[in-house]
Amino acid sequence: MHFKAQDEPAAGREILHVDMDAFFVSVEEALDPSLKGKPVIVGGDPAGRGVVAAASYAARRFGIHSAMPLGRARRLCPDAIFLRGSHGMYSEFSRRVFKLFEKYSPEVEPLSIDEAYLDLSGCARLHGPALPTAERILDEIRSQVGINASAGIASNKLLAKVASAMAKPSGLLWIAPGMERRFLAPLPVDRIPGIGRKSGEQFRRMGIHTVADLARLPRELLQEVYGAWGEKLHLRAHGICHSPVVGQAGDARSISRETTFETDSIDPAFLQATLSYLCEKATGQLRTSGLYARSITLKLRYSDFRTVTRSHTLGEATAQDGVVIATALGLLNRLLKGRTRVRLVGIALTSLTRSPNPQTELFHDPAPEKWDRLYEGIDSIRRKYGFRSILRAASLPRD
Ligand SMILES: [Mg+2]
Repeated sequence: MHFKAQDEPAAGREILHVDMDAFFVSVEEALDPSLKGKPVIVGGDPAGRGVVAAASYAARRFGIHSAMPLGRARRLCPDAIFLRGSHGMYSEFSRRVFKLFEKYSPEVEPLSIDEAYLDLSGCARLHGPALPTAERILDEIRSQVGINASAGIASNKLLAKVASAMAKPSGLLWIAPGMERRFLAPLPVDRIPGIGRKSGEQFRRMGIHTVADLARLPRELLQEVYGAWGEKLHLRAHGICHSPVVGQAGDARSISRETTFETDSIDPAFLQATLSYLCEKATGQLRTSGLYARSITLKLRYSDFRTVTRSHTLGEATAQDGVVIATALGLLNRLLKGRTRVRLVGIALTSLTRSPNPQTELFHDPAPEKWDRLYEGIDSIRRKYGFRSILRAASLPRD
């Protein structure tokens, strides 16, 4: 076998989840420091019918929380300062924070205006170990943007998010690799993202109070009751999360896979099989991330280290192996005319979107959904048995 391990997922991932503390209120305090420490509520006219968009920690001590009707908030704390909110300002502060993130990782996935995942794996050479890096990021948010944030570091997104929530306010929590399950086990079941107050209540009525209680339920039972969500619940209760950190769809970010051969090759069948395999891997990650790609770029490095790239842009974005492979092989075959040996082959998927064709999203025919279901099946078998459990015949290299 000519493959090296480098195209397999990295073993020790370091994922950072950063979340601003009471973001709207923090921005208001940055603009008017006299608000600091006071019960401040952002959400409009307390006599109106709106709800609390954000409450300062001082206001939360009165039992006020977001999504609560403003009238009720005023009854709980008549002295609170009510602000209408300035959304232009919130976007501006958010932009500053994300600008800062980009210095630390090429992979920044925004979850909302005030929350993001950063993949710090492999950034150690540039920025040092993850924990001091995270501290520095929080410090810079404080000193350069003027607001407070909390963060969690862990080996996956699930744990990082749970950790940052527990670190609030202005804290930082690191879950050591190997401690994932032990960390989650004693927590209340509604600490698991996706389990809201209502389902948390439901679980408690069934005698399931902690994540450990949930983890003890048989996977089949959860699947029977909750379907696909039951499968996710089972994985989350065990601290398992394979979801990659993916930059915002629509910007210049890409998903790529490449491999360097142990021995340079000019065998077209071998190069085609390798490329096909890399396409399957990249497209699999595309689907895991709920994305579609419109541009496909092939990269070849010859034995003399000369590197060439060739791109093709599709009429419609895709998440189908077949389309990506056919396009990539087309690009490869045009480059294989010479007799130069190849030492590296790679594929990059760019122009990523959340829908195959955003303009006609409302009118698309149901056929692509059939494909989605097929790939969902393939992807879940791979999660269980490993990526190589299902491969296209075209991706099987001939030794
Ligand atoms: Mg927040």
